[in-house]
Amino acid sequence: AAGLLTIDLAALCRNYRALEARLAPARAAAVVKADAYGLGVARVAPVLFEAGCRDFFVAHLGEALALKDLLPGEARVFLLNGLQPGAEARGAQAGIVPVLNSLDQAKAWSTLARETGRELPAVLQFDTGMARLGLSPGEARALEADPSLLHGIRLLFLMSHLASADEPDNPQNAEQLAELRRFAARFPDASVCLANSGGIFLGPEYHGVLARPGIARYGGAPTSNAPCPTLPVVRLD
Ligand SMILES: *Cc1c(COP(=O)(O)O)cnc(C)c1O
Repeated sequence: AAGLLTIDLAALCRNYRALEARLAPARAAAVVKADAYGLGVARVAPVLFEAGCRDFFVAHLGEALALKDLLPGEARVFLLNGLQPGAEARGAQAGIVPVLNSLDQAKAWSTLARETGRELPAVLQFDTGMARLGLSPGEARALEADPSLLHGIRLLFLMSHLASADEPDNPQNAEQLAELRRFAARFPDASVCLANSGGIFLGPEYHGVLARPGIARYGGAPTSNAPCPTLPVVRLD
């Protein structure tokens, strides 16, 4: 017997709008890495753009370049892993916004901005406990001590990633929020972007200006041991 997988794009849009309503006045970006969690980024991303989404996150440069071709120019495409050494010019040319995860990535982006005489947009990520990507407290202090490291860079916002957002009672959530606020105090005018799907349901103090839901938008439960607040998008017959 054959299986039939149905992906409900209308439910996807309703989930987007429900998350936006929950987040307002903050906005919901779309995390569409890994082929939009296997649902097919070529179908999913344009439909979300039509529904009003303007901010899209992927992990790798190849994904970002493909996404740029799928979306109108006003969509912002953010690269979670940042650009590998040597790929900066390609990323800038394509209009991709890198997440800067280290001083080296910041320096390379700033150097390109100065060489081309063009201000370049970026997001600055701090490692508040996920221990995966982002600046350490020492690196953040180095940036604060020498702002020339960010010359030519237009910082759109600061970001971090929650390690345990699917566990509302885990004290690590509040610790990471506090740590992000300590980092953010070094960059007084910057706004923040913290919540993944689970983070949205931890409360408004986690919302920042932009949240980055993935799984909840696709109908997956963002919180363990709790009913899923979004509609199913995938059905297998
Ligand atoms: C994958 C990812 C997300 C989305 O996480 P969900 O739990 O699926 O909502 C958000 N932020 C970053 C940095 C990610 O890598």
